[in-house]
Amino acid sequence: MTYIGRFAPSPSGPLHFGSLVAALGSYFQARAQQGQWRVRIEDLDPPREMPGAADAILRTLEAYQLHWDGEVVYQSQRHDLYQSQIDHWLEHNAAYYCECTRKQIKAEGGFYRGTCRNKHITSPKACSVRLCMTQPVYQFYDIKHGEIKIPKPLADEDFIIKRRDGLFAYNLAVVLDDIDQGVTEVVRGADLIEPTGRQLSLYKLLAKPQVSYLHLPLALDQHGHKLSKQNHATAIDDHQPRPALLNAMQFLGFQVPDDVSQAKIEEILQWGVAHWQVSQLPMALEITPRFSNAAR
Ligand code: GLU
Repeated sequence: MTYIGRFAPSPSGPLHFGSLVAALGSYFQARAQQGQWRVRIEDLDPPREMPGAADAILRTLEAYQLHWDGEVVYQSQRHDLYQSQIDHWLEHNAAYYCECTRKQIKAEGGFYRGTCRNKHITSPKACSVRLCMTQPVYQFYDIKHGEIKIPKPLADEDFIIKRRDGLFAYNLAVVLDDIDQGVTEVVRGADLIEPTGRQLSLYKLLAKPQVSYLHLPLALDQHGHKLSKQNHATAIDDHQPRPALLNAMQFLGFQVPDDVSQAKIEEILQWGVAHWQVSQLPMALEITPRFSNAAR
């Protein structure tokens, strides 16, 4: 079976050091197995997006010589796929409308207890859609970290597949797209370990073969916060890719020899593909990078 990996950035801002780590980790893991590497723009949540960010991300990937296979997929163009799956589940009583607010759920202890499961709400104004969780996943295997446990109340929850504001939920879109794109392995940041259980439940409900998972260490800033586009993490430099590329490779556990670090960008990447091993990755799930040069 051909390996198909992917990088799936949300266009909430330009690519920063943390997202470069995710891009490179998924790229090396795919290319080291002669696999394909696809790019999907996860533009599901317009209020959190920044105009022009999707194009900027693609330009940055090109500047770093990270060439993807096939066409870029945009989640904003795939609402029909998501909605038709939701309609199918609603028709078969495998999903239902829910009118509970976040405040109510918090008051009940923070986990949703299926309050609307048997209410049979038919006029779904200001309702979310929840999935009946009949296939909970309590643990999964991560290629680097081994068995990872999911807390039972979280795994058992009837989670949201469409939000009250009409936006499709990340967990649903990511799984339907990964299935549709033939993805065989998901390599991404450790901040997405928790939703992995829910995503695996969806594979089971859809009776699709499961993918494998590799979660990469998350880059933190000096204050211990995740580098994120929402926190306005500094964009990496498109004109001088070398410093950030080398720092991201060091973060991923490479010791790049001096002569390689001075080679062309595509040669550095080729060296990375040839030397990449999951065992070189640090075990820590979160790391504050410290580099002698300031490029992040
Ligand atoms: N779009 C998500 C993000 O930018 C990543 C989704 C995934 O890799 O599953 O954080």
